[in-house]
Amino acid sequence: MDVRNCRKCGKLFNYISGPPICPNCKQALEDKFLQVREYIRDNRTATVEMICTDCEVDSGQLRQWIREERLEFSDDSPINFECENCGATIKTGRYCQKCKNEMAGKLESSFRRPEAPKPEKKDSGGSRMRFLDSK
Ligand SMILES: [Zn+2]
Ligand SMILES: [Zn+2]
Repeated sequence: MDVRNCRKCGKLFNYISGPPICPNCKQALEDKFLQVREYIRDNRTATVEMICTDCEVDSGQLRQWIREERLEFSDDSPINFECENCGATIKTGRYCQKCKNEMAGKLESSFRRPEAPKPEKKDSGGSRMRFLDSK
């Protein structure tokens, strides 16, 4: 059994996985997240300071939710971040859509490379080709 001190309240708890936070604090954090998400929905132009003050959440926690793409800001929102790769302005996460696409593309091609080319489908088109060849 892995017993740890909760990072938030310091209480001992049975650690399973994820961040070292006890179930109570995890639940409280989840409630806080829902509150913040609601707040952002109702206050589309709220700044980070406003969210932190009105929801009593610290900006580090807020930033973590954003990096996890759990929070998203509307186009009206003054809140934006820089893509960690190219510095483009983004509203959530760590990378802009372009960089994400590029990364996904790289990942995909490295996945696909070892794969053998797919055999031709034996559909009606293929059999017609064979028919023409045999003429
Ligand atoms: Zn705790
Ligand atoms: Zn980028």
